[in-house]
Amino acid sequence: MTNERDVDKIGAVLVVGAGIGGMQAALLTAEAGFKTYLLDKAPAIGGLMPLLDRTFPTDTCGLCTSCPTQPAYCPFIECDRHLNIELVPYAEIEGLEGEPGHYGVSITRKARYVDAELCTGCGDCVAVCPVEVPRELGGGLETRRAIYRPYPQAFPDTYLIDREHCTECMECVKICPTQAVDLNMEPQRDRFEVGAIILTLGASAFDAHQKGEYGFGHYENVLTSIQFERMLSLTSPSGGIPVRPSDGRVPKRIAFIQCVGSRDTLVERGYCSSMCCMYAIKQATLAREQAPESEVTVFYMDIRAFGKDFDRYFERSRAERGVVYRP
Ligand SMILES: Cc1cc2nc3c(=O)[nH]c(=O)nc-3n(C[C@H](O)[C@H](O)[C@H](O)COP(=O)(O)OP(=O)(O)OC[C@H]3O[C@@H](n4cnc5c(N)ncnc54)[C@H](O)[C@@H]3O)c2cc1C
Ligand code: SF4
Ligand code: SF4
Ligand code: SF4
Repeated sequence: MTNERDVDKIGAVLVVGAGIGGMQAALLTAEAGFKTYLLDKAPAIGGLMPLLDRTFPTDTCGLCTSCPTQPAYCPFIECDRHLNIELVPYAEIEGLEGEPGHYGVSITRKARYVDAELCTGCGDCVAVCPVEVPRELGGGLETRRAIYRPYPQAFPDTYLIDREHCTECMECVKICPTQAVDLNMEPQRDRFEVGAIILTLGASAFDAHQKGEYGFGHYENVLTSIQFERMLSLTSPSGGIPVRPSDGRVPKRIAFIQCVGSRDTLVERGYCSSMCCMYAIKQATLAREQAPESEVTVFYMDIRAFGKDFDRYFERSRAERGVVYRP
């Protein structure tokens, strides 16, 4: 039975964070008949999954892992095409008022400085841009230009300019065949009326400098898991081979140190992330596959392999790939 208060509620939902969690939430609310705004602060939707070349426990690619749950066959395409979903990438929430059932949300759509309607994705602008800065994807091991696409399959499929580093040399403006570059583009303010808000903000990386005893930032060959994940990707500069950033050579020995930034009250993170055991097992296995000459040892507190087929995945890394685990 529907009561008067329910009838009064706004039949629209705002999902904040368009990773796999947000895309799934948006598809479910949209399928249930609600107008759904799917907002992300990043220029491309997808969150962390597109970073992953291979995923535990099936070793399929991250984009494919994003796909199998109903009602989506590919959440990127379904979210883009669903009549009830409005994608709001590269936007930030400025203000919120109201109460459950009646929220007013003010947002800013950040300027991309590239008109998505005109941009054909030809990449000519990248070839002439003289500015090189660390690339966000994969923790800054590679560089990108000031005009860039976050990664080749990024969605929306268009470029943007990082104005913080752009020198306004105008080379991209001159070469763009469709006049898509507009350095005068302004951010746009907008407002949504929604009945509910779902937060699917995912995780952010721990700043490994806080655990100085492991030498991150001091020794070039100490990497975070996000950086190593990227290095193991077939599209990385080393083509998926684990190499030492200091000299580009394959290391003789690789050590994983687990629980750095988790289960540690000294850095105010007493909880277990529940993910890093599994992706360390995956990365250790991949490292042995791509560089069989490297010895790989994982130093751990506990191995938390809790999901379906996770324990088998762990055992296989030990028995078939020769990864060594030391408590
Ligand atoms: C190195 C590494 C390897 C991994 N390997 C695997 C694997 O092999 N298999 C597997 O299943 N899982 C793996 N994972 C875990 C997997 O990446 C996460 O479980 C998954 O990405 C979680 O999805 P999510 O949507 O919750 O969050 P995320 O993917 O983090 O997405 C969150 C989104 O929210 C956005 N956002 C955050 N704050 C705001 C805000 N204030 N306003 C607007 N938008 C915001 C972000 O921009 C992002 O797009 C790995 C994780 C890491 C770090
Ligand atoms: S901005 Fe212009 S030059 Fe750059 S990819 Fe788009 S169409 Fe090509
Ligand atoms: S105007 Fe900015 S983005 Fe364009 S080529 Fe010059 S530095 Fe690069
Ligand atoms: S126990 Fe495993 S999953 Fe939990 S924080 Fe440590 S490494 Fe990560």
